[in-house]
Amino acid sequence: MMEPFMPQLVYIEPQALEYPLGRELKEKFEKMGIEIRQTTSHNQVRNIPGDNEQQQYRNAKSTLVVGVRKTLKFEQSKPSAEYAIPLATGCMGHCHYCYLQTTMGDKPYIRTYVNLEDIFEQATKYMEERIPEITRFEAACTSDIVGIDHLTHSLKKTIEFIGQTDFGRLRFVTKYHHVDHLLDAKHNGRTRFRFSLNSNYVIKNFEPGTSPFEKRIEAAGKVAKANYPLGFILAPLYRHEGWEEGYLELFEKLKQTLPEEATHDLTFELIQHRFTKTAKRIIEKRYPKTKLQMNEDDRKYKWGKYGRGKYVYKTDEADELKQIIESYIHTYFPQAKIEYFT
Ligand code: SF4
Repeated sequence: MMEPFMPQLVYIEPQALEYPLGRELKEKFEKMGIEIRQTTSHNQVRNIPGDNEQQQYRNAKSTLVVGVRKTLKFEQSKPSAEYAIPLATGCMGHCHYCYLQTTMGDKPYIRTYVNLEDIFEQATKYMEERIPEITRFEAACTSDIVGIDHLTHSLKKTIEFIGQTDFGRLRFVTKYHHVDHLLDAKHNGRTRFRFSLNSNYVIKNFEPGTSPFEKRIEAAGKVAKANYPLGFILAPLYRHEGWEEGYLELFEKLKQTLPEEATHDLTFELIQHRFTKTAKRIIEKRYPKTKLQMNEDDRKYKWGKYGRGKYVYKTDEADELKQIIESYIHTYFPQAKIEYFT
């Protein structure tokens, strides 16, 4: 069993109290007896307790900052969405290969934005500019938004906001199973709810602080029954010992759990394990005992933009991975759409 996230320490920016959600959160955490500090600083990391960097990093991941989103220009989120909708940043999980370690390394704490009205207003402008084209928003670019939403319900409000639009769509991905409060959201079929899944071995060894294998699958079943369009990101696909059986078990469990109707509109995104030199350095520092294999000699170097190349599996290993996972998809969910393998 894994309890939903609860911060150890909460910072509130004074401006956040000008918004209903800011005041609501303050009251909620006060009632819970959680330590609350006021802050005016933009970079909270300086304030986070801990004797060394390692400890500070851990503490940061259980610190919640309640703030106001000032920049209302949304980042692009190609190719799967037009824009990233900014609801929160940071995550309490400790996935060894988490992309936030490189993209948000200097801000490991969790920050939630309370000025939802401003954010929705901006989203409306973006949608209006594109009519009659559909505008897709991704809500999990900089955090695992589901994992903190039981506290804020800002994702739930976003789902309902997008549900009322004609030209908006919402998508996000999560490794958490705390979805119950989202099941009755009036999503109107406009939100694609995706789970990040993996073999039991990968989840157990590399994704501490996130929901276990069985729980995520069970949550996917609930979401399907709530008639959300559903999707899975299988990432990183990782060649551990017994990976063929490991991934087979995943598909068998999914097949047993998902209602038949949900399998007619199912998407899969497949991402093989990769690492950059920078990521490897950070992972070895933060999680020195990791079993994650990152031996450059066993990999193929894939050149990237601005010299940011990455190490992926060698061609024949990547091909085998792709072929086997795709064959499982075809067998268990013949109607599902495979969006990409990368
Ligand atoms: Fe990172 Fe996602 Fe793991 Fe959170 S759940 S630590 S965002 S990979």
